[in-house]
Amino acid sequence: MVKGAIKVFAAIPGSTSLGPILREFGKKKPGIVTAFADSLLPMCDQLLGEDSSLEVVSFAEIVRNYVVLCGEEALPLAQSGQARAAISYACSQLPDESPFYRSARFEGFHEAVGNTLDELRHWGIDASCMADLAERTGGRLSEKLRSLAELDGTVTEVLKLLGRQRHSDQLALSLESTLELEGDMNRLLVFIGSEEDPLRVEWLRWIAAQGVEVTVVVDRHATGAAIFAGAKQCVSLLGVQPIEMGDGNRLARNLFTGSDQGGGKIEVSIVSAADPLAEVEWALRGCIEDDKVGRSAIYARDLQSYAPLIEAAAKRFGVPIRMARRVPLLTNSFARLSLIALKFCASYDVRTLAPILRSSYLRLPGPTQRGLDQVLRDCYAKRGEQWPELETWALEHSEGNEWLVSMLEWRRKAVAGGLRLSEWYPLVREFNREQKFPWVALQNKGGLMDERDRRALNQMERLLANHISVDDAVRPASIGLGEFVALCERLWSEGDVSIPTGESGVCVTTDTNLIGDVEQLFVLGMLEGVFPRRRSEDPILTDAERSEITTLHGDGMRLPNSLTKAEAERDTFYRVCAAAQKEIVFSYPVADDDKDNIPAFYLSEVERAVYRAEQVRDGVVQVEQKVERVNYPRPELAPAIGALSTDADIKMRNAIDGPREGALPLEIVSESVRQAIRPPEGAAFDPHVLRDALRCPFQYLSRHVLHLRVKRQQARWGSLRKLPLATQLLSKQDMADAEQAMRGALEAELDQLYAEVPEWEMRLLRAGGQRLIRDWLHRESRSREEWTKEPGSVRPNVSFGSPGVRDVMPGNVKLEGLIPAVSKLENYNVVHLYGSAVSDPKNMSDIDKLYLGLHLMAVHEPGREGAIEVESMSGKRALMVLARGASRPLASSVADGLHVVDLATEDNVADSKRKFYDAVKAALQDAVQRILQARVDATKGDHCDWCDYGELCRRSRGFGEADSPFGEDAEFDDV
Ligand code: SF4
Repeated sequence: MVKGAIKVFAAIPGSTSLGPILREFGKKKPGIVTAFADSLLPMCDQLLGEDSSLEVVSFAEIVRNYVVLCGEEALPLAQSGQARAAISYACSQLPDESPFYRSARFEGFHEAVGNTLDELRHWGIDASCMADLAERTGGRLSEKLRSLAELDGTVTEVLKLLGRQRHSDQLALSLESTLELEGDMNRLLVFIGSEEDPLRVEWLRWIAAQGVEVTVVVDRHATGAAIFAGAKQCVSLLGVQPIEMGDGNRLARNLFTGSDQGGGKIEVSIVSAADPLAEVEWALRGCIEDDKVGRSAIYARDLQSYAPLIEAAAKRFGVPIRMARRVPLLTNSFARLSLIALKFCASYDVRTLAPILRSSYLRLPGPTQRGLDQVLRDCYAKRGEQWPELETWALEHSEGNEWLVSMLEWRRKAVAGGLRLSEWYPLVREFNREQKFPWVALQNKGGLMDERDRRALNQMERLLANHISVDDAVRPASIGLGEFVALCERLWSEGDVSIPTGESGVCVTTDTNLIGDVEQLFVLGMLEGVFPRRRSEDPILTDAERSEITTLHGDGMRLPNSLTKAEAERDTFYRVCAAAQKEIVFSYPVADDDKDNIPAFYLSEVERAVYRAEQVRDGVVQVEQKVERVNYPRPELAPAIGALSTDADIKMRNAIDGPREGALPLEIVSESVRQAIRPPEGAAFDPHVLRDALRCPFQYLSRHVLHLRVKRQQARWGSLRKLPLATQLLSKQDMADAEQAMRGALEAELDQLYAEVPEWEMRLLRAGGQRLIRDWLHRESRSREEWTKEPGSVRPNVSFGSPGVRDVMPGNVKLEGLIPAVSKLENYNVVHLYGSAVSDPKNMSDIDKLYLGLHLMAVHEPGREGAIEVESMSGKRALMVLARGASRPLASSVADGLHVVDLATEDNVADSKRKFYDAVKAALQDAVQRILQARVDATKGDHCDWCDYGELCRRSRGFGEADSPFGEDAEFDDV
């Protein structure tokens, strides 16, 4: 080792310290600048400027360049995707007895084991060392180390077959070589930060020994508090006394010291906002204040959650942002669409194309979408012939459907199957880039393929290519289309993709290295568990196992554990605090969607560190500096007039301060429309219609005048209710016949739904329908035993106005429609109905009274009483009577679901009847008047829960516009 060849600077992190070091290093002569963390390189580039003689290169690239200078074979570095694919393959080869066998197929495991293997290698524990340690220990650790050694060995072999090396391989390779120095490669400036990496440090020592002038920069606390343990460890391994750089402001000097170490002024605030969106909005308002957009940055520890909020708020305020981030690949619509199209091709069900039709990428007009949807259903109904049927249809209607023709042609090629992955790759490339597909075609996106989609497409192909290259090297095999699409789905659902970002504006990041040179920094989401994160052990090697490895390995090295990682949270927080030059604003949301939050305890430490007071005279204390605390409660959605900076805020403020606008009245203002919706004079009404008009005129209008129907899933179950009626169950003499007829009717009903519903739901409907049939038949036969009807008296499907059933009601109101059946039971004329639930007579609404009363009046006959037998889908059959004395006592059988319900609410039967029919007559008048007056007002109530028109009337009990769910105007929070 050449003494003095390494110089170490210990500097406060952030651009304030790094700038002078870079300039000083660049003064002398050319050299290379690098960092252990690649993300620091853009900041180095920015600080150096374009005319600098220094070259900024990634650390891995530099190592590779030196390997070449050593005369060794330096293969290209393995891309992360290739390494992951190699690990995935290695995991698939693990034997059953491996402790990792059961989790070996999961992508999360591949990621975790890849990280652990990397970590071990950088701590000098390679495959042979792992195997050796496995021999020297026992139990589960021994098994784990043996498996890890196997995995590492397999990964190395696979990468070798691909002609690739890992960074750690090249580090180890150089340590055994001798360097032939040339050009500018004899000066190196390395920013280590606080990353403890024994292999890289060893390499730095080696390269210095080879004659390279190495300058190392590590992080330090401004006044030497016990943080940056990694940096201290690196300095100790290098064996060089560091030169301390920088002074630091008050926050940087006092944080985590527990004492007052002085320091220059910095403005610090702690802001609490009602929720994460409000927090983001206030941060962005701070960025645009005094036009500080280019000098501000936002740091969010949990960028995944905050990114959509930041994007939305920045758009609303018109604030440009730069936010580099990665998102799951299948959140991209292009990628999702391509996958659905592939799955459609691999499917046995042509209806799987339906989700694509609704995509905005296709821009299909509504009627075309519905038309194609119907074609798919019709084709599906042909069962085994569905694909040829669709192909024929597509060819016959190729104009405007070229994309479908093209897709079906591709499918025909692909279903032939039996291709190797390397053969599938060009086929899927052809599919993804097929210009006839609307989501691929350039002209569909206004001339330029979205950058976002272009990245997604590249990433989809890259993920496949990585996997295929490994697969081709180790186990080439032929697979079919279904298997290939399943592989695509697995790889793409596990992959992620970068989102394009603006070139200028507020920097939004979760990496302190990317914050750059800023005056003002907003730190979002300062919550317990987020910053600092909770301690968690490595899923592959526990803390106890790491400690055992440390003991076994000896050599003074200490493998990091969850505690060292938890301690490093302070390092990160310190870096955040050191990044802002003039002002730093910490914020947190008081509550999230489902919980109240706890502010991070670091905030108390910040307050302590910044606070400075002096006793001026006579015990009077003057506060020189302190953290400003601000709270933005929920009603404060926008700043007050005068402090506004964006149009969006002005609009919001004016709306908040302006008078409240009530919901618009629901009424028809044009006489011609009134006329159009009124029934003709003398029109007859169905009892259902009268019931709906009394319940809610808007519902009546939507259902019976405009005939609007909502296609909901539950409606399919409702269609089963028709089975007893369709099979005329009541008139069937023999229960076996009835059962056969109902089963036949069920199959006919399901057959109609066949093309509409997925297979799983079809099975559910069939099972549910059969259960209903069993229950209906059981209650029907028990009803015949308990409530035996007069022989031959059952008449199904009787219309109002037919013999024995009147159609003129009080007030000369005419009825129309069909009654499922009428019959006679002793002295009762019975009406048979199908309905839902049976309400309690004492609390029966006028709406139910009207419906039942109209039927009772219709079968009224002097000297006889009326009764209604209602079969429901809820497992009950009720016989409702208004006077129990008209026959022998009728029995209920609760176990069989049979109930006799007396509608009389008083002891005196005559009074009861009069009250009941008075209510029916009044309700009838009311319902008819509503219809004739063409009323369309919405009457909310319990019935809204089953109503399909809530989105139209906007008065629904659950989500109407008229009432605020928050009651009167919300008050300010206490916090
Ligand atoms: S949701 Fe309620 S108020 Fe609206 S139409 Fe339906 S029943 Fe009437």
